[in-house]
Amino acid sequence: MKIKAKKSLGQNFLIDKNIIKKIVNVGNILPKSSILEIGAGTGNLTECILNKNPKKIFIIEKDERLVEKLKIRFNNKVEIINKDVLTVKENLICSDKLIVYGNLPYNISTQILSKWITNDSKNVWFENFILMFQKEVADRILAQTNSKNYGRLSILSNWRLFVKKVFNINSSCFNPKPKVQSTLLMFSPRKKYPKLENSKNLEFVTRIFFNQRRKKIKKPLNQLFKKPNEIVEKLKLNIDLRPQNLSPDIYYKIANEYEKLRK
Ligand code: SAH
Repeated sequence: MKIKAKKSLGQNFLIDKNIIKKIVNVGNILPKSSILEIGAGTGNLTECILNKNPKKIFIIEKDERLVEKLKIRFNNKVEIINKDVLTVKENLICSDKLIVYGNLPYNISTQILSKWITNDSKNVWFENFILMFQKEVADRILAQTNSKNYGRLSILSNWRLFVKKVFNINSSCFNPKPKVQSTLLMFSPRKKYPKLENSKNLEFVTRIFFNQRRKKIKKPLNQLFKKPNEIVEKLKLNIDLRPQNLSPDIYYKIANEYEKLRK
């Protein structure tokens, strides 16, 4: 029986064999590697991963109809978690560091990424993320300070992760064909990154700034701090700048100052 793709679940299945191979090759899969695939769909990417003979493959797939198909296609070669990825505790899946692949459902791709970035567990649970995004979203993740796409996504992504653009992927590589172009990104963990007590504070601080991205930074600073002048002096901020002019490092410092006040 042919399965009708559900728009609500962002189902655009990869069908181009060459592209699938190229995507899988981005991760350095060895016989000792454990893999996690998010939204395996009909399993085309999964099959190509299996051909690399990794130690273990875990799949998170929400659609029960697809889970049934995947069970038939791969039998016991993969371990399927039939859940919403947003509710899964990644740290508990496996004790090995996972190479994570995902042709993500675009409607929740940024939610998935922020969930992983703000996962404050002590142990890093992944080796890399190799993820597909709608091109516009990838552009925001990759954006540099002072550019029009620069904002919360780039600041949050670069906090604990290195981000690298791999390549763009044409919509004709999918079925059904999405209306947007796609970009594959690779993320790897930074060994050293500015420590925060709770990453939610970075989310909060950047939200306050970028909710008013055209305003000068004086306004969000007043909103966040009782004594904004002390922060301005300490961090040597120019209050005539606008949110997109501050580097990610400055935001990590502001979030840190904000946390200190809460102690
Ligand atoms: N990787 C597959 C399919 C990508 S489409 C391929 O390339 O062919 C996105 C997949 O994510 C679909 O299979 C969809 O059912 C699944 N999905 C959508 N929302 C999900 C969620 N919240 N949790 C887990 N899987 C989800």
